[in-house]
Amino acid sequence: MHRILLIEDERQVAAFVRQGLEEEGYAVEWEAAGREGLRRALSEPFDLILLDIRLPDHNGLEICREVRRHDPALPILMLTALDSVEDRVEGLRAGADDYLPKPFAFNELVARIEALMRRSRLEPADRTHTDGPLELDPATRRGFCLSEQLDLSTTEFDLLAYFLARRGQVLSRDEIHRDVWGHRFDRGTNLIDVYVGYLRRKLRDVGCDAEIETVRGVGYRYRPTSESTPTAS
Ligand code: CA
Repeated sequence: MHRILLIEDERQVAAFVRQGLEEEGYAVEWEAAGREGLRRALSEPFDLILLDIRLPDHNGLEICREVRRHDPALPILMLTALDSVEDRVEGLRAGADDYLPKPFAFNELVARIEALMRRSRLEPADRTHTDGPLELDPATRRGFCLSEQLDLSTTEFDLLAYFLARRGQVLSRDEIHRDVWGHRFDRGTNLIDVYVGYLRRKLRDVGCDAEIETVRGVGYRYRPTSESTPTAS
């Protein structure tokens, strides 16, 4: 049974979410206080964190950053009270994999949880995605460039693996949304740009010379490292 940690101070929202998810077969642990929620997130095994941004005793964004520092791959779905672009972008910058603006339909919450769970256990072992010195290991969901480790969140890993598997191809935003996130976001969000920004920085930080090029008006193209072998695909 999958364990979800729900950090949410609004009792009614928490009760509604908890009961619904338990009926869907999840084990839900609820914490109303941010600090206690953070402590448990760091000390107990969970498969996913559902995290409210506005908490009275602690900032959800801080909790998100802290959890992300300890576990780059643990799926985090943020619940944002304000449906503002700034809130969403802040949440994603803090390391959340996805967000859901309140009020939300329960079905949508379940669909997003399922999508994140599916991706976080995406296919182990038999493939390692490599591009010259850059290596992604689907079993551990970690990335390496030479001996440097890339700390990647679930979404960052999926996006980079997606680019690696389609190196040299021009990929439209719609394709990327569909294939990596598994559902469509509102037009006009800059979700992909935010994540591409993270990946560019992380690749640069470990000295990897692969580039994610912006293709104006279309989307992105992954240009492999200078040591990439031409036959790899
Ligand atoms: Ca709240």
